[in-house]
Amino acid sequence: MRGGLRLLIVGGVAGGASAAARARRLSESAEIIVFERGPHVSFANCGLPYYVGGEIGDKNELLLHTPESLKARFNLDVRVLSEVTAIDRAAQRVRVRELQTGRVYEEKYDALVLSPGAAPLRPPIPGIERPGHFTVRNVPDVELITGWIEEKKAARAVVVGGGYIGLEMAEQLRRRGLLVTVVEALPQVMAPLDPEMAAWLHQELRANGVELYLNDPVCAFHEPDEKAPAKASIVVLKSGRRLQADLVVLGLGVKPEVGLAKQAGLELGNLGGIRVNEYLQTSDPRIWAIGDAIEVKDAVTGAWSLIPLAGPANRQGRIVANNIFGRPSRYDGTLGTAVIRVFGLTAGCTGANEKALKRAGIPCQVIHLHPASHAGYYPGGQPIAMKIMFYPENGRLLGAQAVGRDGVDKRIDVLATALKAGMTVHDLADLELAYAPPYGSAKDPVNLAGMAAQNVLAGDVAVAQWHEVDKVSRGEAVLLDVRTTPERQKGEIPGSLHIPLHELRARLSELPKDKEIIVHCQSGQRSYFACRMLSQMGYRVRNLTGSYRTWKAARDG
Ligand code: FAD
Repeated sequence: MRGGLRLLIVGGVAGGASAAARARRLSESAEIIVFERGPHVSFANCGLPYYVGGEIGDKNELLLHTPESLKARFNLDVRVLSEVTAIDRAAQRVRVRELQTGRVYEEKYDALVLSPGAAPLRPPIPGIERPGHFTVRNVPDVELITGWIEEKKAARAVVVGGGYIGLEMAEQLRRRGLLVTVVEALPQVMAPLDPEMAAWLHQELRANGVELYLNDPVCAFHEPDEKAPAKASIVVLKSGRRLQADLVVLGLGVKPEVGLAKQAGLELGNLGGIRVNEYLQTSDPRIWAIGDAIEVKDAVTGAWSLIPLAGPANRQGRIVANNIFGRPSRYDGTLGTAVIRVFGLTAGCTGANEKALKRAGIPCQVIHLHPASHAGYYPGGQPIAMKIMFYPENGRLLGAQAVGRDGVDKRIDVLATALKAGMTVHDLADLELAYAPPYGSAKDPVNLAGMAAQNVLAGDVAVAQWHEVDKVSRGEAVLLDVRTTPERQKGEIPGSLHIPLHELRARLSELPKDKEIIVHCQSGQRSYFACRMLSQMGYRVRNLTGSYRTWKAARDG
């Protein structure tokens, strides 16, 4: 289809607004109408938590455009407070209801784009509909939250769900001075991370005064009474714990808004999202769908997935406009690259996590490392906990995670780029990355990750994982700590034998030759040196990857 056509877009935020703006750049003659159910178009939903905490002080900063500005700049006809309620595919018409007036009318389309997003989950937990229980999706939602906090002088918040919206809200409510409790049904927050990586976030939340209850789902929201006063609810957990809440924020995940697609008889996937082909076309060739409402192919496992993120929605908006205006563009799948700040820590991930690879039966090798964010001799470097997953037979990257106080976002973005390009760990070792002491090291953490993985692939060292340390208590292996005595005095893995690296050659007689030896140091580098020495002397050794730091994070988390 080329210019002059009538393009209707349902949803005027991330995906919808991108599609509309790109469509105009491709065709001056197209008639482009955007329907948005809410009062705002093209607002910054990712910024909403920061408005609650006051980091974004002015609500208008969240409103990137108005219907008037979009009319002036792109000649778009944007209709807010206008809900599309039905699609007549045969007649190529949509039915629209004006929410303020109740007027219902129809509009004809040549091409229709659905970008209706995903709705926050509100499971039928008894009491969930009581006042003071909020979800976070749009500007009116955060205005209700801030209004409630002020009006009720709320002091204690319970955030239900430890996903990224829940954690960002927890951080921002703390910033506002509230006492905050996060409740999570799973044993960890931030499900895209593996548990030993999420453990760092658990520690950071607690260190910043957030009470955290893991593995403890909410069963009910009880009405407060004189014995247990609260402005919103008494939040009752499965364990029986009861939390007084002046405010409850529900961050329980989202589900694709597919009511319209269902009504129109468009094909849906097994996960409940709209099914599209690689050109983002639904089962009706005149209707395209993008954003949180669609199922995408996981770019690593190939499985259909729901990955509600702003980056993919925005890029899909551009791609879909290309496709409608005669520039065929494919959407190749989503890596799930994400980053979050939780107080002083940043956590990022890209590609598959170890849990997903195991579920998909994809063989993977895993390494952990803790390089410094920049050269050790330059002040202020901070360790980055990194985890890399790759194919054992060829070293192709499968996924990466990183948590730290400095330099996490750029490493995750480099790794996401490498993953997208189908790179191997050999390529990571070989990347030429920018270096000056304030920013990195001559061997950047990404290079080091590649080199550590190369050592494993080359058979120079075999690795043991933090959860295999249990083998030691079962007598199946010996755990050898090669750190210095002062380091060990700060904490040790129970049952480990201590021989500092510099004494190892002199004390070989203390090591068994008939048992596997798992060697650890603080982060895995000195234990690698020990492994190289011992394996060449005929000992059966493995390096505890990530060493004491990863083991301790997993244990304390
Ligand atoms: P949306 O941007 O949600 O837009 C859909 C719009 O469609 C809605 O405004 C809705 O009102 C409208 N609509 C639905 N049905 C109809 C209808 N029938 N008629 C008319 N209009 C309709 N992602 C990140 O990558 N990084 C982040 O840091 C991040 N932070 C977030 C923080 C919060 C609080 C939230 C809520 C989301 C965050 N996201 C983040 C996710 C990101 O915002 C979404 O992935 C992205 O907005 C999805 O774009 P979309 O176009 O599919 O849906």
